Amino acid sequence: MIPSAAPDWRIESCLPGVLWPTLPQPASTQVLALVFQLERTQWLVPQELQALQLRQLSLELAHAVNTVPYYRQRLSEFWTPHTGLTWEIFQRFPLLTRRHLQDHYTELTSSAPYPQHGQVGAIHTSGSTGSPVSVLRTAFDGLIWKALTLREHVWHQRDLGAKLSAIRQGVSENEIDNWGAATEGIIHTGPASTLPVARDIETQIRWIERQQPAYLLSHPTNLAALAQHCIEHGIRMPWLREARTRGEALPADLRELCREAWGIPVVDMYSSNECGYIALQCPQASHYHVMADSLLVEVIDDEGRNCAPGQIGRIVVSTLHNFAMPLIRYEIGDRAEVGEPCACGRGLPVITRILGRARNMLLLANGKQFWPSFGLRGLSRELGIRQHQLVQKSFDRIEARLVVDVPLDAAQEQRLRRQLLSSVPAGFEVTFSYCTEIPRSAGGKYEDFISEVAAPRH
Ligand SMILES: [Zn+2]
Repeated sequence: MIPSAAPDWRIESCLPGVLWPTLPQPASTQVLALVFQLERTQWLVPQELQALQLRQLSLELAHAVNTVPYYRQRLSEFWTPHTGLTWEIFQRFPLLTRRHLQDHYTELTSSAPYPQHGQVGAIHTSGSTGSPVSVLRTAFDGLIWKALTLREHVWHQRDLGAKLSAIRQGVSENEIDNWGAATEGIIHTGPASTLPVARDIETQIRWIERQQPAYLLSHPTNLAALAQHCIEHGIRMPWLREARTRGEALPADLRELCREAWGIPVVDMYSSNECGYIALQCPQASHYHVMADSLLVEVIDDEGRNCAPGQIGRIVVSTLHNFAMPLIRYEIGDRAEVGEPCACGRGLPVITRILGRARNMLLLANGKQFWPSFGLRGLSRELGIRQHQLVQKSFDRIEARLVVDVPLDAAQEQRLRRQLLSSVPAGFEVTFSYCTEIPRSAGGKYEDFISEVAAPRH
C-alpha cells in the first residue's frame, strides 16, 4: 500500500529565496526523516513489525543489563546480551509495577546513557491511577514523539493551516502562531490558542466562540460538558471540524454527543507522560493503533497470558528507545480490550477500548461546572502518597482518600489541604481518609475524581 502523503505541509525553509522544494532546518530534517520511515513501516505485517521490535528491544535490553542495576539483577537469569531475544524469553521477564518504579528510581537509572541520544530530563507524573512516579527520558524520545504527532496529523488529514484551540491542563490563556512543539520550526501552521481547563464551562464556551477554531482539543469529561451545554442551549459552532481528546478514558457517549452538538467526529489519543504515545485512533475507525514503532505493548490476563481479540487485560509497556531509564514490561495501571487486525491495512496492533482514568466534573451549588485539577503531583511525591482519589461529597466538602505507608501528620495534612483548596472555588472544606488500596469502579476504570453531588436543576 502507498503511504499517505502530506503535500500541503508548508515545511519551514532554512534558505532565503527557496520556497520549493524546501530545504528544512537541520533539526527538522531528523524529525521528517523519522516521519518518512514511520509512514512506511506502519504497513508492515504484524510478524515483520514484531521482528523489528525484538531487534530494537534487544539493543535497549543489552544496554539495560550492562548499565541499569535493577535489570542486571533481575534479567540476567532469563537473558544475556549474547542470547537471541524471542517473544517467549521476553514474556518470562518479571513485570515492573508502579510500586517498583516508586521504590527503585535510582537502581532503574542507567549509569551511562548514550550522549548521542541528547539531554536526559526527568518527568514526574501521577499517571492515570493517581500513583505518582518519576522517569527519565532523552531528547531522542522527544524526536520520536514529534514524529508520531506528525504522522497522526497525516492519518487524520488535518489542515495544518487552520486554527487549533486547546482547553486543557498545564497551559495558560495564550494565542500563538504555531500549533506547538511538534510543528514549531518544522512546518508553518495556522494559529493556535490555549485556555486552562480550570475555567468554568460557560466561560470556555464564550472563549471558543471568540476563537472559532477548526480543531478543538480537550479532556473527554470537559468536552462532554461543553457538548451537553451546547445541546441544551442550542449553541452552534459551525466552524468546528474535529474534536481531539486526551488524558482520560473516553466516556461511552462522547462521540454521539459531539455529533449531536456540532456534527463533528472525535479523535482520541492514549498517551502517558512516562512512555509517550501508547495508542492513537485509526483514521478509518474509532479504535486505536498501538504505537509499535516506539513501544512494545502487551495486553495480558491475570495469569499473564496474551489476551485474544475481545478480551480485556492489563496493559504492559516496554520502551524501545529509552536508554536513560528503560521501562521493561512496565505495568502502567490501565486496562485495554484487544481488537482484530484493522481493515485499513496498517500492521500496528489494534486496541478497541482503553479503561484508564475517568473523572466527573466538580459541581457548584450555583450550577457552574469545573473540570477538576488539583496539581498534586509534586506534593504527592514529597509526602510519600502512593495513590489518591478525591471525592466531592457535597457542595462544600471534598474528601481526599489516600494510600500512604505512614499516615500524614497534622502539618502535612494542612499543606495538602491548602493545595487542594487553592485548586477549587472558595467555600469548600477538605477531609482525609486513609485506605490500603483504591479499587477501580465496576466498569474497570480508575476514577481519580468522583462527584457524589447530583447536577442541580436550573
Ligand atoms: Zn486502522
